[in-house]
Amino acid sequence: MTESLPTWDLTDLYAGVDDPQIETDIAAVTQAAADFATTYRGTIASDKLTTAHLLAALQAYEQLLGAEYRPQAFASLLYSTDTADAARGALLQKTREFGSAVSTHLVFFDLEIGQIPEQTWIAICEDATLAVYRHYLDHERQMAVHNLSEPEEKILVETANARGRAFARLATEVNSRTKFSIEVDGQVIEKTQSEILVLLYEHDRETRRAAAAAVSEGLEGNAHTGTFIYNTLLHEKDVLDRLRHYGTPEESRHLANELDPGVVDTVSEVCAANFDTVARYYRLKGKILGIDDLTHYDRYAPVLGQESEIPFDKAREIVLDAFAGFSSQLRDLAKRFFDENWIDAALGDGKRGGAYCAAVTPDHHPYVFMNYTAKPRDVMTLAHELGHGVHDLLAAESNHLLDYHPVLPMAETASTFAEALVFDRLLSELSSPQERMALVCSKVEDTFATVFRQIAMYRFEQQAHRARREEGELPTERLSELWQANQQAMFGDALTLGDEHARWWLYIPHIIDVPFYVYAYAFGELLVLALYAQYQREGDPFVERYFALLAAGGAAAPADLIKQLGFDITDRAFWQGGCDLILQRVQQAEQLASDAGAV
Ligand SMILES: [Zn+2]
Repeated sequence: MTESLPTWDLTDLYAGVDDPQIETDIAAVTQAAADFATTYRGTIASDKLTTAHLLAALQAYEQLLGAEYRPQAFASLLYSTDTADAARGALLQKTREFGSAVSTHLVFFDLEIGQIPEQTWIAICEDATLAVYRHYLDHERQMAVHNLSEPEEKILVETANARGRAFARLATEVNSRTKFSIEVDGQVIEKTQSEILVLLYEHDRETRRAAAAAVSEGLEGNAHTGTFIYNTLLHEKDVLDRLRHYGTPEESRHLANELDPGVVDTVSEVCAANFDTVARYYRLKGKILGIDDLTHYDRYAPVLGQESEIPFDKAREIVLDAFAGFSSQLRDLAKRFFDENWIDAALGDGKRGGAYCAAVTPDHHPYVFMNYTAKPRDVMTLAHELGHGVHDLLAAESNHLLDYHPVLPMAETASTFAEALVFDRLLSELSSPQERMALVCSKVEDTFATVFRQIAMYRFEQQAHRARREEGELPTERLSELWQANQQAMFGDALTLGDEHARWWLYIPHIIDVPFYVYAYAFGELLVLALYAQYQREGDPFVERYFALLAAGGAAAPADLIKQLGFDITDRAFWQGGCDLILQRVQQAEQLASDAGAV
């Protein structure tokens, strides 16, 4: 692939890693945070608190956070395009330490919100001028029962970069720097993680086998470090959960996600009860590929011999056209990312793997990060991240910073919906049954990756956190055994994971960076299946309600947002409905495979 891929322009944040303005801003914000504490400390948790005083404090707080995010966002964006550059790593660390210094001054604020005397709270909170902050305030008061004292919280904030967060950064650096050796045409070549994982999608089984062996070997080299890091994080969470009186490892995540634990259990159980859909698909895939002993390196094998390369410009066209089919507003918002250089899609040494969309503040646009390898699934990734970007742009219009971000389970709504739009567009353009079959198969596999694989990972995390609490420090083999058992559960007897696959948990960033993040993907995808089905039934009238959902950002709990669209997330049948749609896709793949004479 020779075309040049877009890189983003970060100069609307800062000129570069050594821009003196970074230092100036850091100093100013640190001072402003100290002043904020001087002005407001001791005045919030008071029976003399007035609405006007609280409102002024919230506005000042919001402004401070916005000013803090700017250098932090810049450092983190810059770092992700070259994690091997020491200057970028140092700037990232500096902004994190700066973040801790600022938070130290601000810690009192949320704590005091939780401590506003109940009578005072009742008296002021009905005031209409506070309405825009009510969701934030209510949520803070819910979380307050888990708060520690201010000096304790301060110590935690100040040491944050020397505890778990430091180990998580180490995991990122270890993974980014790991080279995976593979023999190609008699020569041993070193590949980065992104480059080696892409080979698992190759047509040639021997290439996939060799790539998988290289992945396993590379991860084996990191096993000691990775196991140590994960154990440290599991232990830290155990301690903090105990101090904060969280009853289960998942509870803090559910509370942050504003989800009832019972809802998450329902999603997890319904998904696990539908694992046979995965097995059913892999039986088909085995027949299509003509392989009767499918294993881990066949999981992502393409069902068509030749996978066409899609240049970035074509991907852009497909995505924007598909968005336009839904609404011109969606296309126009996404188009800005290309026109205004908000996308970094290039490949490079030291660039971290994966893809993300980073929102900064409501008054600054988001950025899209990805590694574009010209595979059809990269088009879906582009659509996915742009979906996030549009979500952020819409949420920015009507929300202040404190309600800007949708909670995790809602954060994947627009991204997944965008993928659904692009998928239909691609499918409608194909005429040959083989190609249609291949596209539906890849969609099925992507959906599995978002729904069932995430739930399998969630179950792994649940067991890993409990095992660490009950058994003490866990050896690599124990974590690998849990990983393997939970992944294998999806496949039944249709695909048998090889032993070497057991240590592949070592490269999963989410379980390190944000414990229990993963179930939000399954939640989001199943929700979107329901939304998309609704869109197909309703057509244009749905568009406005959909935009309203995105524009709400994080201004309400998921159950309330979704209720406004007419769905009840406590209902098992709602989630089963999503799983039924996945089964229908598998049946469609079976039909297309039969039409194409592939089985
Ligand atoms: Zn996403």
